[in-house]
Amino acid sequence: MSNFPRRKFISTVAASVAGSFLLKGCLGNPPETSTTTTTTVASPNTAVSGQLETNTVKLGYLPIVESAPLIIAKEKGFFAKHGMTDVEVAKQANWGAARDNVEIGSAGGGIDGGQWQMPMPYLISQGVITKNSVKLPMYILAKLNTQGNGIAIAKKHEGKQVGLDLKTAKDYILGFKGTGTPFKAAYTFPKANQDFWIRYWLAASGIDPDKDVNLITVPAAQTVANMKTGTMDGFSTGDPWPYRLVSEKIGFISALTAEIWPNHPEEYLAMRADWVDKNPKAAKALLKGLMEAQQWCDKPENRTELAQIVSKPGYFNVPITILQGPFQGKYDLGDGKPVVNDFKKSVLYWQDEKGSVSYPYKSHDLWFLTESVRWGFLPKDTLGKAKEWIDKVNREDLWKEAAKELGIPASEIPQSISRGVETFFDGVKFDPEKPEAYLSSLKIKKV
Ligand code: CA
Repeated sequence: MSNFPRRKFISTVAASVAGSFLLKGCLGNPPETSTTTTTTVASPNTAVSGQLETNTVKLGYLPIVESAPLIIAKEKGFFAKHGMTDVEVAKQANWGAARDNVEIGSAGGGIDGGQWQMPMPYLISQGVITKNSVKLPMYILAKLNTQGNGIAIAKKHEGKQVGLDLKTAKDYILGFKGTGTPFKAAYTFPKANQDFWIRYWLAASGIDPDKDVNLITVPAAQTVANMKTGTMDGFSTGDPWPYRLVSEKIGFISALTAEIWPNHPEEYLAMRADWVDKNPKAAKALLKGLMEAQQWCDKPENRTELAQIVSKPGYFNVPITILQGPFQGKYDLGDGKPVVNDFKKSVLYWQDEKGSVSYPYKSHDLWFLTESVRWGFLPKDTLGKAKEWIDKVNREDLWKEAAKELGIPASEIPQSISRGVETFFDGVKFDPEKPEAYLSSLKIKKV
């Protein structure tokens, strides 16, 4: 496995539109002059506490809504406000490229960290998905978002009641197995969020994702092409893809992740541990910039501008129209389903009905590790080691320090490292105190 092609790790154009984008209406601590660019914020930096070890960092991102706070922190000058004046947000060709780039590190032309699906920071720290199984310790610093993902189904399956609850469509889906071409669905990286969401959704209705259907890793563009030609049945992915498939009349949305697990943990900011250990103040400065960006992103009145910024060619390079609806919680699901119009079902970045979105609850990391055991992605004894792993990787302590330094009110700083019992759409509960009980309660699993 060591000879896989060295990917073009600078698969990106760093999306820097420096100089062309003026700070306007920057929240919080506006620069003295309105002509300061995002890369050269030169106003006296009262927000910077103490000298930072570095002002430079390179963060990877994928062109899906999860990355919006990283892009906004850069574009709106929130990173710079806290002294991180040289932050590059670098588009990654795919999740595998992001992993390769973080292994290389910025010194070698890669990245220092950035946006991750879960439990990628754990899989990299443990050497599960790295080259030659080398362990590269990483730290999780914050959660980027909740919701904003969904499962899209190809148009040819319209009218078969393929929805959130699959019970009435179960026989229809299972029927393809007998034809020799089982129902086939894709995600963009295995053993991480979007794989988990579609597995959970299928299994909740009695469909075994390993035996009854064919789940595979396929790049987004190819999946869309295959859905058009009818050779792919489903796609588990982040916005703007699900809505884009509806608007281009290629398919419909069977389930939003906001419905599968309301206010679920989605993607995270995680960094190489050596970068954070070497630059602890800069790490907190990054966090403060991110937090301000997350607050900005969550204001409904900013969502139109948010769509304008991230849709640009340097970032997502998509028509703004396919982002505007989802950013407001307006989802045309297709297939004759009622239109969803609920901001609380949109991608959220700072606060949701359960409290903090940005704070990285350790109980959520435990769910991702437990779910990895459920599907045989990690060995069963992982549960015995989970606490040790989580205490090493999850740096919620840094999040709290940064939040306090930023003046975040105590009411918005979680008191516990656990969000408590979680409930899924089918009524199943995950009690972080009893992950084994959750595993035994599940009918379909590999463990
Ligand atoms: Ca995602």
